[in-house]
Amino acid sequence: AKAAGRNRYSLYNPQMSEILHERLQLEHGMRSGLYAGQFSLHYQPVQTLADRQIVSVEALLRWQHPQLGNVSPVRFIPLAEHSGFIVELGEWVLQQALKQLARWRTQGVILRVAVNISTVQLRHPDFLRQLQQALTQHGVAGNQLELELTESVLAEQVEQSRHLLQQIRALGVTLALDDFGTGYSSLAYLKSFPLDKLKIDRSFVRDLLTDPDDRAIVHSVVVLGHSLGMRVVAEGVEDAGQLHQLQQMDVDEVQGYLLSKPLPPEELENWLRRVHS
Ligand code: C2E
Ligand code: CA
Ligand code: CA
Ligand code: CA
Repeated sequence: AKAAGRNRYSLYNPQMSEILHERLQLEHGMRSGLYAGQFSLHYQPVQTLADRQIVSVEALLRWQHPQLGNVSPVRFIPLAEHSGFIVELGEWVLQQALKQLARWRTQGVILRVAVNISTVQLRHPDFLRQLQQALTQHGVAGNQLELELTESVLAEQVEQSRHLLQQIRALGVTLALDDFGTGYSSLAYLKSFPLDKLKIDRSFVRDLLTDPDDRAIVHSVVVLGHSLGMRVVAEGVEDAGQLHQLQQMDVDEVQGYLLSKPLPPEELENWLRRVHS
C-alpha cells in the first residue's frame, strides 16, 4: 500500500500527468481562447413571484474549446481565479453584458442584467474605476446592472470590502449575495453590508419537497433576508412543486430550468416574445 501511495504522487504516474496536462491546457487555452472568440455569454431569466414578470437575466459564461468542447465554468473559473486571469476574463464578461444590455434597450427590451463577480476580480484595485468606465462607455445606468458576489467577500478584509460595496452601490448598482448558505459568512457582517438580495443556493432547493431540513433552512433564509430588508431569490427551481413551496414561503424571485435554462441572446429574445404574447 505504501508503494502504491508513493506511486500515486509520482510525476511519472500517467494519470497524474494527464490531469496536470489538462489543467495546463485549460489555463493556457483560456487566454488564447478569449482572443479567438471561444467565450460567450448565455442569459437565464429570473421571475418575480408577486407578478410573474421577467425583470432580469443572469449572464453565465460559456467556453467552447476547439478540442475539449463545452468546458463548464465550474472547472475553468477556479483555474482563472488561481492564475489571476479572472481579472481580464471578468472584465470581458462585464463589457459583453453591458454591450448586450445596451443592444436590448435599442430593441425595446427592458431588462436588468446580473453579472457574477469573483472576489479576486472585485478586490483588484482597478475594479471600481473599470465598472464606472464600462457603464459610461455603454450608456447604461447603474440601476440596470446587478452584481452577484459570493460569501468570501464577507470573510476577509471586511472594512475594505464594505467600503468598496458602498461605492459600487452609490452608482445605483444592485448587489446580490450568491450561493447563500454554502460559505461561512458571519451573520454580523451580513447585517452591516450594503446588500440588496440573497440568492439561496440550489442545493437547498433540490430536495425541498422531501427534506424537512431544507425546508427549514429556506424558510429561515427568507425570514432573515426580509428582516434585513433584502429580497430573496431561489435558484435551481426545476419543477412546479418546488415553485409552489417557494411561493408559500414568500420567496421573492425564482430562477431555474422550470422557467428556462440559460440561453444565447437571440434565443432569449424569442423566449421573451413567447412568454409575453
Ligand atoms: P451560479 O452563479 O450559482 O449560477 C447558477 C448555475 O446553476 C449555472 O451553472 C446555471 O446554468 C445552473 N442552473 C440554473 N438553473 C438550474 C436548474 O434548474 N437546475 C440545475 N441543476 N442547474 C441550474 P453554470 O452556468 O454552469 O455556472 C456555474 C457557476 O460558474 C456559476 O454558479 C458561477 O459561480 C460560475 N460562473 C458562471 N459564469 C461566471 C462569470 O461570468 N463569472 C464568474 N466569476 N463566475 C461565473
Ligand atoms: Ca450567480
Ligand atoms: Ca449557486
Ligand atoms: Ca456561484
